[in-house]
Amino acid sequence: MRGRGGSGAHQALPVHQANRAHRAYLGVGVLLVVAHVLAQLAWGPLVGQLAYLTVDATAVVALGWRAARSPRRARSTWLLLALGMLATAVGDATWTLLLTVLHRSPFPSVADVAYLAQYPLLAAALVVLARRRGGLHGREAHLDSAVLTVGLGLLVWVGVVRPALADADPGLGTVVSLAYPVGDVLLLATAARLWAGGGRRSTSLRMLLGGLVATLLSDVWFAQLGDSGGDVLALAASLPFLAAYLLLGAAALHPDAAALTDPQPPPAEPLPRRRLLALTAASLLSPVTLAVELALGRSLDGWAVAASSAVLFLLVVARMAGLLRRLQDQAVRLERLSRTDALTGLPNRRSGDAELDRALHACRAAGAPLAVAMVDLDHFKQFNDSRGHQAGDRLLVGCAAAWREQLPRSATLARYGGEEFLVVLPGRSAEQAVVLLGRLTRVTPEGRTFSAGAAEWDGRELPEALVDRADQALYAAKRAGRARVERAQPATAA
Ligand code: GH3
Ligand code: MG
Ligand code: MG
Repeated sequence: MRGRGGSGAHQALPVHQANRAHRAYLGVGVLLVVAHVLAQLAWGPLVGQLAYLTVDATAVVALGWRAARSPRRARSTWLLLALGMLATAVGDATWTLLLTVLHRSPFPSVADVAYLAQYPLLAAALVVLARRRGGLHGREAHLDSAVLTVGLGLLVWVGVVRPALADADPGLGTVVSLAYPVGDVLLLATAARLWAGGGRRSTSLRMLLGGLVATLLSDVWFAQLGDSGGDVLALAASLPFLAAYLLLGAAALHPDAAALTDPQPPPAEPLPRRRLLALTAASLLSPVTLAVELALGRSLDGWAVAASSAVLFLLVVARMAGLLRRLQDQAVRLERLSRTDALTGLPNRRSGDAELDRALHACRAAGAPLAVAMVDLDHFKQFNDSRGHQAGDRLLVGCAAAWREQLPRSATLARYGGEEFLVVLPGRSAEQAVVLLGRLTRVTPEGRTFSAGAAEWDGRELPEALVDRADQALYAAKRAGRARVERAQPATAA
């Protein structure tokens, strides 16, 4: 039954071989990057860009190859990633063509259409992937990804949006430059949602997320450089883009990629430590941004910082409220568990004792009588031995249910241990208790019998002494031949 689907790729290609594939890819990629830099410096942009475009192409091929050999349920993720990378490659090729062959300004141009198309494609890939993986979902996942998106989104605002807005002429160029940060935030939000789902952080996933983060950083850096840079700066600006493409390509070639879309279990802890650290860091980005701007004497993004701080604060409070609610629910559940006998669902001994205390107080206040009884199944060991432990369990459960039904609502029936039960009867005398116990005898399942001792409270004695008298009476009933109810000796003056 196993070994089909997701793990099929592992079988088809030995792991060490596939490992070599992604390492070789990265090695060649680094050589291409070096070639790009050297060629650009030595022979100018046209030759230099050839190496750059080759990196684009290899990433497209790697992602496409992974899509082609993935099982159907994993294919859409890789296909969308490949298409996103293809859009980037087309953008780069168009840019190069315009700049170096046609000697026209590449911005704004048709190249931007291709560049901008990458964002929805990559974001769609991440949404599909996050859905496939499952893991943590619902409110907590949304809150965590929102914290990350808002925290890092502020950097996109400061790094990309503000410089674009500050651009003097509000022409097409400004509109196009503003479309990039919108794409960045889309990518950021979907990547954060994928991260928030948790699950196994395989090498492939790390490289994929690393590639996307590198894309975001490249956008920010590129916007920072603006028109100010000369050739060398422009060259430097291209390097993080190349790193991003190589990471995406390597993510597709790594053997882990075959399991990337496998469903993941939600995190065992409500807020794992590393997640808490990441959320803390993201929340601190807002004051840190302000501090850095103050320290560097840059113009302040006061409103953006104020807004993001407020939203982050609300998100964190909502997350904490969720955790607190989870904790309270757990406390209630634990408390209930600690009072209940797991097998019969009756109150356990601790809870039976507490009920007796409570009933004694109430009866003292009301001047009402109170009786207790200890009940013990006869020859239960024999029953276990002949019919099996499971049948013994079923008998205990059956007795608990049948007896509970016969007792008044005000009575407590608790499992005291093994096959012993405590009955607390507020407002009843010992005589009335004996009558009630007679009813229990008639409904005991499987034709079994029990022995019981009943004691009436003298109005003064401690609960332990009362239970002890009932216990003595129970032993008397056993000695007298079982299947009977004995009344306890009156309480001694002590
Ligand atoms: P007596 O008539 O003297 O009370 O004899 P007995 O066999 O009922 O009493 P004894 O104290 O010798 O044995 C009690 C048995 O109850 C032994 C133990 O295995 C069984 N027992 C205790 N708890 C459970 C339980 O939760 N499930 C089952 N199936 N058996 C239990
Ligand atoms: Mg017994
Ligand atoms: Mg017993």
